[in-house]
Amino acid sequence: MALVTGANKGIGRAAATGLAAAGFRVVVGARDPRRGGEAAAAIRAVGGDAHAVELDVTDQATVRAAASWIDEHLGRLDVLVNNAGITGSGQAAPPDALDRVPSAVDVDLVREVFDTNVFAVLRVTNAVLPLLRRSPAARIVNVSSHSASLALTAEVDGPMSSLLSAAYSPSKTALNALTLQYANELRAENILVNAAAPGYVDTDINGHSGVLTPEQGAAVVVRLATLGADGPTGGFFSAEGPLPW
Ligand code: NDP
Repeated sequence: MALVTGANKGIGRAAATGLAAAGFRVVVGARDPRRGGEAAAAIRAVGGDAHAVELDVTDQATVRAAASWIDEHLGRLDVLVNNAGITGSGQAAPPDALDRVPSAVDVDLVREVFDTNVFAVLRVTNAVLPLLRRSPAARIVNVSSHSASLALTAEVDGPMSSLLSAAYSPSKTALNALTLQYANELRAENILVNAAAPGYVDTDINGHSGVLTPEQGAAVVVRLATLGADGPTGGFFSAEGPLPW
């Protein structure tokens, strides 16, 4: 049993499809039930077991209702993929767009991005943690970004600077910090918690300027969701391997 947030499109949908292909019953979390239902139907059409639930990660009521639905219908959760995310900027904004630089960023926009990319991860994870605790081998994957890495972005110039923003990048850095904290808290319960950087993926979030397919981006997510018992916890990985914090 696997729940993927923001699974109606992009990397989340590809991760849900990949997990279904790996044999998981997949719960497609989507804030728009119609688009979530379409994604779940597409997964079923290729032989997967998928069901859509309404899930706006910023809305406690839908989070609670989704957790109750999983409790009632599936009884437990083996995998949680915290994938839903926003940049807060317009799609494919230029590097010097005002909403990117800290000296000019709108604080309300930063709050909005943190609400979805960080606070909602706490909300969703804590709501389904009792269900994950019923699994013999639970895994949590937080979908982060290369731009979260303080080591990689300490002195950034050139193309990567267009991926940085004063709202988005710190939100993913905070998500990485949360990943470590959950990993430490849940280590004794054998719940493995890792952060995934999918790479620069062709999706709506970047106006389709990315170069990888959603399936390529989701591969590291699926790998971390299906780690064996001796797998890592508290790590940050791309498809190529561990990334520096
Ligand atoms: P998309 O814009 O294609 O998908 C984002 C998904 O998140 C959508 O399903 C969207 O739903 C959902 N979402 C946003 N806000 C909420 C919310 N409040 N409640 C529920 N769902 C929500 O982008 P990607 O697939 O590229 O992004 C997926 C993740 O990957 C994000 O966390 C992103 O930061 C991360 N990422 C992406 C990279 C890339 O190059 N594409 C690179 C690094 C990280 P809706 O359709 O309703 O808007």
